[in-house]
Amino acid sequence: MTEKIVGIRSGGGQLGRMLAASASLLNVQVIILDAGQHAPAKQVVAPRTPAHEHINGSFTDPVKIRELAAKVDVLTVEIEHVDAVTLETIQAETRERNLAIHPSPFTIQIIQDKFRQKEHLNSRKLPVSDFLAVESSIESIQRAAEKLGLPLMLKSRTLAYDGRGNYALHNLSNAQEALDFLGDRPLYAEKWVPFVKEIAIMVVRTTSGEVQSYPVVETVHKNNICHLVFAPLRTRDPALTRKATSIAESAVRSFAGAGVFGVEMFLMENGTIFINEIAPRPHNSGHYTIEACETSQYENHLRAILSLPLGSTTLKVPTTAMLNLIGHSSNISDITSTVDAALSSPGVSVHLYGKAECRKGRKMGHITIVAESDSQLRERLRPLLESMPDAKT
Ligand code: ATP
Ligand code: MG
Ligand code: MG
Repeated sequence: MTEKIVGIRSGGGQLGRMLAASASLLNVQVIILDAGQHAPAKQVVAPRTPAHEHINGSFTDPVKIRELAAKVDVLTVEIEHVDAVTLETIQAETRERNLAIHPSPFTIQIIQDKFRQKEHLNSRKLPVSDFLAVESSIESIQRAAEKLGLPLMLKSRTLAYDGRGNYALHNLSNAQEALDFLGDRPLYAEKWVPFVKEIAIMVVRTTSGEVQSYPVVETVHKNNICHLVFAPLRTRDPALTRKATSIAESAVRSFAGAGVFGVEMFLMENGTIFINEIAPRPHNSGHYTIEACETSQYENHLRAILSLPLGSTTLKVPTTAMLNLIGHSSNISDITSTVDAALSSPGVSVHLYGKAECRKGRKMGHITIVAESDSQLRERLRPLLESMPDAKT
């Protein structure tokens, strides 16, 4: 086993919480940096000694990141929107004591800027749809539309999540609205991808650069937010699964650093696959691995960054689904009826994240359903979907 201490830079979210819970099963001490004194991740792991106290502060504050770095052997993230330059400096400063930072600050730098990420993938001949840099002006958007056609996806290069940095431009008359919506963030444009399915794969990479993949899953989004995940991907074509896995593994091999990476992809009618984006951390599309795989994405992330042997990524049930519990308003009762329905159903596991407030569009928890067959899975999922406040809309 390991005596190493892991530091998690957390942004008040569920990924840090599930990572911390997984660490506690392996008796790995984690120290959490989060602005909230009672942040979701801090709720699940108590410090062992005063030296292991969690830190209150922002994951973007260089002083706080340094304070965390001084207390741990391995530093990791639940969110890629961190100050990668500070991380590089810390890495240089701590060279003699071998502080490991995963994923590597350079990888974070490329991935956190979606335009640079696309350039990186494109330069390695990995499949991405056409994209272009745009200025924040109507003329520049017009030029992009001439080249890429309409509709067009305008995206913020940085600080994007849950589709909040995306504007689907269907008509040039909405260009000003798009600029107002996206604010003064640096932008780029992507050709519209008329996909038939969105798919994703979690890939785990060791410190020596080997990669291992989880099954291909289908992700279903609603209002740009992940709503459902189904694993394994339903397809009559085993070559498709192999192709998606090979693309995802090549993409992850192209980045330095250890840990799990979530690779989001678009599947076209004719079987063509494009990479949408890569997350250098545990990912929503991999929550199902806690109940449905031999080793969860969280445990394998820890094993990878601690240089421990990886666990098997194989499914241990025939079929599984994950349903996100997303707030509709500030009223937590929006999700309680779904939780109640889940608690009285077999094969169903509830995860609640302990967030202080419920908000519209906020991920408050998720539910994993495992089953022996697809018909049983649908039977178990139906009452949960029907219990949701927007079931009839
Ligand atoms: P996440 O929460 O996954 O990090 P994000 O804010 O980074 O989301 P994207 O993954 O870029 O946003 O896009 C969100 C969703 O918008 C995608 O899952 C997909 O449904 C849709 N989308 C993104 N890019 C395109 C495109 N080029 N063409 C069509 N649809 C797209
Ligand atoms: Mg994203
Ligand atoms: Mg995405």
